[in-house]
Amino acid sequence: AMNKAHQAAGWGGKVFPPTATLPESQRMRVLVTGGAGFVGSHLVDRLMAEGHEVIVVDNMFTGRKKNVAHWIGHPHFMLIVHDVVEPILLEVDQIYHLACPASPPHYQYNPIKTIKTSTMGTLNMLGLAKRVRARMLLTSTSEVYGDPQIHPQPESYWGNVNPIGPRACYDEGKRVAETMMYAYHNQSSVDVRVARIFNTFGPRMHPNDGRVVSNFIIQALQGKDITIYGEGHQTRSFQYVEDLVTGLTKLMNSDYGLPVNLGNPEEYTVKEFALLVKELVVGSPSAIVHMPATKDDPAKRKPDIQVATDVLGWQPRVPVREGLSKTVAYFRSELEDTGEIVPT
Ligand code: NAD
Ligand code: UDP
Ligand code: UDP
Repeated sequence: AMNKAHQAAGWGGKVFPPTATLPESQRMRVLVTGGAGFVGSHLVDRLMAEGHEVIVVDNMFTGRKKNVAHWIGHPHFMLIVHDVVEPILLEVDQIYHLACPASPPHYQYNPIKTIKTSTMGTLNMLGLAKRVRARMLLTSTSEVYGDPQIHPQPESYWGNVNPIGPRACYDEGKRVAETMMYAYHNQSSVDVRVARIFNTFGPRMHPNDGRVVSNFIIQALQGKDITIYGEGHQTRSFQYVEDLVTGLTKLMNSDYGLPVNLGNPEEYTVKEFALLVKELVVGSPSAIVHMPATKDDPAKRKPDIQVATDVLGWQPRVPVREGLSKTVAYFRSELEDTGEIVPT
């Protein structure tokens, strides 16, 4: 779909990354909520490169202007600082609804706000989708499976979630967001897509995000202790962000309306993962230490991606090692820029 690349020039002669020139009939106006965040900003890059018009709505809670700074001033791009808990009127063709803090320290910082974001925020976006007849994709999560009792997890599994635990604001918020998606579909014919995303990593993760990938890499780069919560026998499966973005756009533009897992089945124990990060940050003097386990930490997590393969022809392409190397390079340059690391 890449037509002739076009390099627009903005005010003050700013040069933008290249974007394809789409005929008017194929160019869509796409809303990305949470588009200044980690995943959202990579999705914005993809949609812009394809030649679409992109509107980002973000309240900047965990998002950063620098994640989309390279598009500011581009004729196809708009950044609206707005909280999705409040209604908003826009005219769009598609809505990727990502707005929601995603890392446990961020979503547990203000659990009531997290619940409002998932419920009222999703309600507002569904009201918008209904009004303008836009197709809407929700970024749900593997957390809807809770601490899963079957392994790997297919979409048909209903999950094992503690409704009153510390993760509930996020897990149950996403579960009711999924419920609302199908209620609006059944009752008001809104065209919906639901992606259940498994642990994803890559450049632009927030350095204070607190998730395992950014924590371990930054600790290894700074020579600090690598902190394993609990014994480290719990597992996660890690997906590189570029693969996720491909999956999200394929799902949005497919005709499949039921939930789809998007993740990389490459599974590691947290302990194995700590050793891998230490190996990739060559020469890191960090020690690996154990801290208390966190409450309700899922013991195992791995996606069954048969549905994505069958209906989208999608599977992850980037091996974890390769993605991690790129992410290490990103954090190295970030830390060098802010003087938080001595260049080696
Ligand atoms: P992120 O924290 O980097 O991005 C979330 C974005 O949403 C931020 O820019 C934040 O400012 C914005 N936001 C939060 N609350 C908002 C509100 N009330 N109004 C407007 N904007 C708001 O997280 P991410 O990793 O990019 O996650 C993006 C989406 O993907 C989230 O919905 C998350 O639940 C989902 N997801 C991510 C992962 C992962 O591993 N990264 C896994 C499963 C699901
Ligand atoms: N909404 C919005 N933008 C729109 C249309 C609706 O933010 O373009 C909000 C609206 O304010 C409401 C929610 O979405 O709070 C649900 O809208 P819906 O029309 O389904 O419900 P109603 O307004 O009838 O309660
Ligand atoms: N974890 C860890 N040390 C850290 C951060 C996380 O051992 O510094 C563990 C955490 O207990 C969990 C796994 O790594 O078992 C993944 O945690 P993360 O917060 O990245 O995401 P989750 O999948 O739990 O939402």
